[in-house]
Amino acid sequence: AASPAFKRALSTSRPALFASQAAIPRTKLFINGEFIDSKTDKWIELRNPATNEIVTMVPEATQEELNYAADSAAEAFKTWRKTTVLHRQRKMLDLQLLIRDNMDRIAHSIVLEQGKTMADARGDVLRGLQVVEAACAMPHMIMGDHLEVSTDMDTYTIREPLGVVAGITPFNFPAMIPLWVFPLANAIGNTCIIKPSEKDPGACMILAELAVKAGIPAGVLNIVHGARDAVNFICDNEHIKAISFVGSDQAGKYIHERGSRNGKRVQANLAAKNHGVIMPDADKNHTLNQLAGAAFGAAGQRCMALSTVVFVGETKNWIPELVERAKKLKVTSGFEADADLGPVISKESKARVERLIASGVEEGADLVLDGRGIKVQNYENGNFIGPTILTNVKPNMECYREEIFGPVLVCLNADTLDDAIELINKNPYGNGTAIFTQKGATARKFTQEIDVGQVGINVPIPVPLPMFSFTGSRGSIRGDVNFYGKAGINFYTSTKSVTALWRHQEAEDHHKVSMDMP
Ligand code: NAD
Repeated sequence: AASPAFKRALSTSRPALFASQAAIPRTKLFINGEFIDSKTDKWIELRNPATNEIVTMVPEATQEELNYAADSAAEAFKTWRKTTVLHRQRKMLDLQLLIRDNMDRIAHSIVLEQGKTMADARGDVLRGLQVVEAACAMPHMIMGDHLEVSTDMDTYTIREPLGVVAGITPFNFPAMIPLWVFPLANAIGNTCIIKPSEKDPGACMILAELAVKAGIPAGVLNIVHGARDAVNFICDNEHIKAISFVGSDQAGKYIHERGSRNGKRVQANLAAKNHGVIMPDADKNHTLNQLAGAAFGAAGQRCMALSTVVFVGETKNWIPELVERAKKLKVTSGFEADADLGPVISKESKARVERLIASGVEEGADLVLDGRGIKVQNYENGNFIGPTILTNVKPNMECYREEIFGPVLVCLNADTLDDAIELINKNPYGNGTAIFTQKGATARKFTQEIDVGQVGINVPIPVPLPMFSFTGSRGSIRGDVNFYGKAGINFYTSTKSVTALWRHQEAEDHHKVSMDMP
């Protein structure tokens, strides 16, 4: 049953997220429990990727505003850390219900600002919601250990919150990735500052509004906007003890170095190049359907997109059937009911993807499906690229070495499973991989020999649910503690070990000084 505070919150009207209804709406900051207008003179245009019409102006928060957020979070920590874990669990229970009730509203914001389809945007919210649901089990997850280590002597551990923690998140999952961060951090007793992507902060602003309704107190969650200056502030501010980053290599390596240099814990999930291996014994229909969905879904803008296929042996003959499936996919605005994939995030991104397609052709790959120059009815101005397939790609080609992050499937050939494994293990990234086979022994060999942190067997996008952790490896991560699950709890806590002696009768050694290591 919902708490009285929660019921009251449900009946209150939602605060306006925009500073002004006139002219172009401006996205607000959320600091110390209030949605506030930024006083900055630096604004970032946010355009609908399907039309390139301006949706909102996003502020680059001033130093004063950033300091206000960090100070508010530090102040709120003093009282929030003293609340019981059962109290914080109740907030998460209320928050998960509010997110579920507002799923379509959040998804709508994602489609408008990010471009993915409505169904896919709901999935973005759902995968984040599952982390909130997991955070509802915090009393269980945060339990320490206990052992009677000697007569009358016990050692036990207490998991304590760190203080203020920050999340710096990417554009491609504007709900899910902020939800990887603040629900766990807050349920543990930390306070939090999120800097969502300046390209699509709308979903995060709705989540902040729902956090208020769930009764999460002022300063416990704060949302700031901006780009490099805001990121530098987070890396340097003395109140902030830990940074969770998800995004590109360039930003992630920089943030990992700068934050670590300042003595902060940093976990950074970076870019990817995920390979699917197709074995001759695979179920052809299942495999081709999964491939098309995982390569072109979300216009290829998923860190776990299956963007590279290794056809083993004769399976390369399946390519024409894959092309037929890809051709049938409907490219249009994510708001259209029949959309299979929407636009890419920006004009710059579209130009970059098209350049990488051209580089593949120049370097000798075969372009068997070309999605460049696609005309989308009613959305002539959008950043659309149709599904594109490059075959006979070689590892030295730029289209193989770079993460493309668009609806482009890069296909390589291998004679044997061993050759496929060698190829994948040589790639610097280790986010995800998948094998398609009907033989258990083949899947087992692949699982054991592949040096990639997340493996799918007949599952193209093996992102673990939040009772596990997101375990990308090698070049796809900096830092050594993963997001969510048990690892996420470890990241947002420090462990205090207590050893206590309570004699119930006077012992012989009571009056002697001992100089030995006990
Ligand atoms: P991005 O690195 O451009 O942006 C991520 C965040 O970093 C944003 O908040 C942005 O404002 C900030 N930022 C960007 N450039 C910066 C710079 N030079 N200095 C400081 N801060 C900077 O990433 P993106 O384009 O939003 O997201 C796509 C990337 O994220 C892809 O490479 C994708 O693979 C990766 N990603 C990885 C995972 C994962 O779990 N491994 C998940 C999702 C996305």
